[in-house]
Amino acid sequence: MDYLPVFLDLTDRRVLLVGGGEVALRKASLLLEARARVRIVAPSLHVELARLLEQGHLEHVASEFQPELLEDVVFVIAATDQRAVNDAVARSAAARGLFVNVVDDTAGSSAILPAIVDRSPVMLAFSTGGHSPTLARRLRAEFEARLPERLGALARFAGRLRDTVKRALPDPRRRLRFWEWALQGEVASQVLAGQETAAEALLQQRLSADSAAGASGSVKGEVYLIGAGPGDPDLLTLRAQQLLQQADVVLYDRLVSERVLLRARREALRVFVGKQSGQHRVTQQRIHALMLEYVGRGLRVARLKGGDPFVFGRGGEEMRVLREAGVAVTVVPGITAALGAAASAGLSLTQRGVSQSMTLVTAMGEAAEALDWRALAAPLQTVVFYMGVAQLPRIVAQLTAHGAPVTRPVAIVERATLPEERRVIGTLASIVAQAEQAGVGAPALLIVGEVAAQACQAARER
Ligand code: SAH
Repeated sequence: MDYLPVFLDLTDRRVLLVGGGEVALRKASLLLEARARVRIVAPSLHVELARLLEQGHLEHVASEFQPELLEDVVFVIAATDQRAVNDAVARSAAARGLFVNVVDDTAGSSAILPAIVDRSPVMLAFSTGGHSPTLARRLRAEFEARLPERLGALARFAGRLRDTVKRALPDPRRRLRFWEWALQGEVASQVLAGQETAAEALLQQRLSADSAAGASGSVKGEVYLIGAGPGDPDLLTLRAQQLLQQADVVLYDRLVSERVLLRARREALRVFVGKQSGQHRVTQQRIHALMLEYVGRGLRVARLKGGDPFVFGRGGEEMRVLREAGVAVTVVPGITAALGAAASAGLSLTQRGVSQSMTLVTAMGEAAEALDWRALAAPLQTVVFYMGVAQLPRIVAQLTAHGAPVTRPVAIVERATLPEERRVIGTLASIVAQAEQAGVGAPALLIVGEVAAQACQAARER
């Protein structure tokens, strides 16, 4: 983190603004909106600034900058068009331990003024650390359009009822859920529509019911069995994101990418339950026990699995154990690795006249012996092997032994949809040597069939 975002209460605090032009005018207006006392230093003032001065909103020092002017100020903005002056301001401010913003000079600033969306008391601030003000403004425009006009009213409504709710529901977790209910549903829509009286009636009604339930209505834990997709966090479903934002605990596998984990609620406890390098795998039983333990404490557990939970993910087993224990489970599908790989490699898994079906299969362990290899070797289909890299020579040998021509195209997609994605494209005859040469490692998929020839060799297409 390069900068810590903070919100300053500048009410009646003095800020020194150096400069008297248009830029200074914009900064002065912003500071006045924040109810700061603005001391402006400039030999001459923009007409609009002069008008603000006349109306008594500003304190003006009609001279060049002097370090003494930093006396009793809490913050400094240098907004002149002269580099030397701005530098001198920054140096003097730093010498006094004051934060200073130099307009258009990130390196010279110890504080950045973000792009903002103002729905006071709700305030959104965007910064790109000075790298791209245009990007920050674009983000602002996006949220400006998306956030309801009366969002501030909603915050005030919640603020006004906060103590009432606190008294009625002393247990913090029950209170948290109550507020989640209130701020997501009908209560919120009514406030946003300007119908606060109706909203409050609805809220009070539910509050009495919740409060009457007393301790017996203790919070229940639950589990969200979530497919995290193949790696790119933008491939999470909306529901996955929503539930990740309300989970108290996140149990995740090795295949869940770092960037996906960042989408979970900041305060959520993250627990790794995958295979640690050089250590023993956390057993499936241990995972079940952990989930039940957290649920027993009334927590909301997000069980995050790579791809889709029900495709080679043991999601079915986990769901059964939980349901048998009477735990509420919500399953959220994810994009399975085969679909992610096909999309980024630009190959169509089925295609008229070329491939009429698609089979997802794993060739791991003993299960591989029981596979119907003749069927998998048949033409006019696409077969996607999961967990197959280590088994590659065996898979190729079995397919060719059961009638697949050695010219049949094969694509290996390693770390599909992640920035490090790699592809190796060849045929049953060549792929073993190619994979070895490329040093292909897990996680990777093996796609066998005519469509594999369409896979794009070059860097991943987006
Ligand atoms: N539930 C997951 C699969 C888990 S099995 C899903 O639906 O995708 C683990 C195997 O999935 C890996 O060995 C690999 O074959 C495949 N896999 C998972 N993520 C992958 C990725 N990003 N790129 C390529 N293969 C991946």
